[in-house]
Amino acid sequence: MDLHVILVSSPEIGHIVPILALAHRLADQHGVRSTVLLVTTGASPESNHVNRHREKGYALVEIIPLPPVDISKLVGPDTKVVTQLCLMMREAVPLVRSAIAAMDRLPDALFVVYFGTESLKVAAEFDMPKYVLFTSTAWFLALSVYCPVLDDEIKGRYIDEPGHLKIPGCKPVRTEDLVDMMLDRDDQPYREYLRIGKGLALSDGILVNTCEDLEAKTLQAFMENEAMKSVLKSPVYPIGPLTQRVEPRGLKSHEYLMDWLDKQPNQSVLFVSFGGGGVLSAEQTTELAWGLELSRQRFVWVIRPPKKGHVNDELFPDNMKGTHEDDYLPRGFLNRTKTTGILLPKWGQQVEILAHPSVGGFMSHCGWNSILESIMSGVPMIAWPLYAEQRMNATFLVEELGLAVRPEVLPTKNVVGREEIEKMVRILMEHKDGEAMRDRAQQLKTSATNGLSQGGSSHQWMCKIVSDIESKRKLNGEHAMKY
Ligand code: UDP
Repeated sequence: MDLHVILVSSPEIGHIVPILALAHRLADQHGVRSTVLLVTTGASPESNHVNRHREKGYALVEIIPLPPVDISKLVGPDTKVVTQLCLMMREAVPLVRSAIAAMDRLPDALFVVYFGTESLKVAAEFDMPKYVLFTSTAWFLALSVYCPVLDDEIKGRYIDEPGHLKIPGCKPVRTEDLVDMMLDRDDQPYREYLRIGKGLALSDGILVNTCEDLEAKTLQAFMENEAMKSVLKSPVYPIGPLTQRVEPRGLKSHEYLMDWLDKQPNQSVLFVSFGGGGVLSAEQTTELAWGLELSRQRFVWVIRPPKKGHVNDELFPDNMKGTHEDDYLPRGFLNRTKTTGILLPKWGQQVEILAHPSVGGFMSHCGWNSILESIMSGVPMIAWPLYAEQRMNATFLVEELGLAVRPEVLPTKNVVGREEIEKMVRILMEHKDGEAMRDRAQQLKTSATNGLSQGGSSHQWMCKIVSDIESKRKLNGEHAMKY
């Protein structure tokens, strides 16, 4: 009988995308059937993505939205989004248990995104192999599992530590790049982060959405560095990149954009988007508009109405209600750029846009899915980190991969001025440095694609996981026959 596994995702688009990609990888390359249990809130963009996926009706991938969890009694107006996500995943544990218990045949393994490590205990109750899908870099995984040690060693605020935090065998992390959850040690997100770091070790393996060509040094640390091995005993499997499929043309709302892109020269368009949750301030939006116009480059910009802070999240659709575009776009901008630029309100079909041959650069908030999608399209970037672990991702992209330019000062600290934006855009789109980054992105795309195909390193790691699940099933079958 074919293998059947359970995949548990949070409602975050940045988790749904790689979980669905994992389900497809298991189906297409290993013939494994998946049921994706989706923790829900009922909010939009992520469900659009899921709906689009469900409409296609893939034979081996079933998505079951769990009943929405009620965390209203556990949160207040100031509860951070990450805390809410952790609470949702915690409250969903009984729902995961009931969904599995109601199945005709016990599934063969459980995979859960790293915010949901508390569901691992359900897998243990059913004696199923249990895995965590870590949806960011191996470097961030290293910080996450090592944070409980730092918690013992460092007494004050991490950001007051001089320079860098050291992680055994890995690139040190600049304190200004630290993940948001580590910034306030008295706040709940930090406690959740410590719990996640410890929880990862309870799995039978951690799948990281990366590959050996991208993060060889950090991956080696997991295998060989004694200090790292003493905190993380579970094996780490670099099975990435797991990215969304590029869908064939045909979406009506999208076709106008695709037709426009068809008419532009190869690699001449900059794609500008700040992910599922990124929103700039009004002042920053204005500077960005000026910078794009001054650069005289073609662009497609997914634009969201600004709000007071820098960051927004689709979990709060009310925050998306914004001001009128005249309040944040320079007067006459739309008219002056009408032949060279396209504005997409709130959402764009990102992977299809990046894959279009006319797109030659990506200004991004550095969500890890976005970075991988850019690499898999051979497109270099302007790194514009906003929240979560994106500052680390930006540093990795610039310093380790040499795939991006970035502003002098973090965009979360200062408004980036129009001249600097113009300069970065020109470097990426016109300059030989940008050309070199484009070549490098193409090389990485080729090596990552090879890693995913038969015999490649990511493919082999995935084969190992599937074969471990098969062995465990055989063993369980033999036990069942004995008793
Ligand atoms: N995305 C998209 N269109 C948008 C914004 C985001 O398709 O307008 C997708 C994007 O392709 C990626 C995911 O949403 O797969 C965002 O994940 P990422 O890790 O980049 O950032 P997050 O939003 O989780 O911070």
